[in-house]
Amino acid sequence: MINFSSPKLQNTKNLKTYIKEIHKVISSGDYILGKNVKKFEKNLQKYLGSKYAISNNSGTDSLIMSLMCLNLKKNDEVLVPSHTATATLTSLRLMNYKYKFLDVDNDSMNISLKDFKKKINKNTKAIIVVHLYGNPFNVNEIKLICKKKRIRIIEDCAQSFGAMINKKKVGTIGDFGCFSFFPTKNLSAIGDAGAVVTNNNKFYKKLLKIRQYGWDRDRISEINGINSRCDEIQASILNIKIKSIDINNKIRNDIANFYNRELKNLPIRLPMYKKNFYHVYHLYVIRVSKLLRNKIIKFFQSNNINLGIHYKTPCHKMKNFFLNDVELPITDKVVDEIITLPLYPELKKKYQLKTVRLLKQFYKENSEK
Ligand SMILES: *Cc1c(COP(=O)(O)O)cnc(C)c1O
Repeated sequence: MINFSSPKLQNTKNLKTYIKEIHKVISSGDYILGKNVKKFEKNLQKYLGSKYAISNNSGTDSLIMSLMCLNLKKNDEVLVPSHTATATLTSLRLMNYKYKFLDVDNDSMNISLKDFKKKINKNTKAIIVVHLYGNPFNVNEIKLICKKKRIRIIEDCAQSFGAMINKKKVGTIGDFGCFSFFPTKNLSAIGDAGAVVTNNNKFYKKLLKIRQYGWDRDRISEINGINSRCDEIQASILNIKIKSIDINNKIRNDIANFYNRELKNLPIRLPMYKKNFYHVYHLYVIRVSKLLRNKIIKFFQSNNINLGIHYKTPCHKMKNFFLNDVELPITDKVVDEIITLPLYPELKKKYQLKTVRLLKQFYKENSEK
């Protein structure tokens, strides 16, 4: 069975190297916030081009820690898309912050600029922008408004490590860049890990405290904190993997270009490509008629390929995130049409060809006559 992603292939490919690193860490006796973590944070800073990088335990924690820095009051609001991973909303609910859902743009499936301008008000204090599927949301388009109105920008970069807008890495344009190194992400640990990057020294110092019990340098708890540390084993593996992230993102682009070329004549909507944007294709998501979606998925399943849906239920339809009077027409439309095709650096050419062949065959057999 072929899946839309496969972390196992990447990790078993270099098994011996990883085992050697794990062995070194175990022998060192230093397991938390040691030299591998320091090196990883340096690597992140250098690669992304941010002033500061703080590693931690997950992408969710990165969002929570960033939100904790903001100290929002009772009536303050955060704008957030509904069409995103559950984790984006989980962080807001956990903080008990008020939020307002934003609809998506029909072409990019990222936040709609129009809806952003409509929903912004005097209570808006922050926005979480998501670079969904690895496709950069144009943060520059909202930066000026946010600066004028003192709205903080949190970039959810869990799906977009290495993605760029005009050669600038996403995560370094807003106030916070939140990354996840969950095993399926473009840069991935063999377990949970994450990081926050920022250029703001005040936020950096606060994030360091929040990461460990609110401790100051003398281990006196000064503010509310959590325990969210990246461990030495994961950091040592990430230090090896970060060396090949550019190659792997390039391979993802090559496969995406192959799909784009081969599928362009089918009645489906392909991922949007924008000039000067570097999409890193964490997920290759196409859109099909909602009447055919299940049939396509079943057809692929019977041919041993598992397609994905990211995401089937938008967050505003989940019980825990429910708000009154939410209308997100584009989001509601998009979630019924999306399908994720297999795409990962280790995906063999024969499976790329098979994916293309099956889709063509499906439309040949199901074309409207
Ligand atoms: C994966 C993901 C997260 C959460 O990351 P974890 O490391 O699993 O906590 C947050 N936002 C988005 C968009 C994601 O895809």
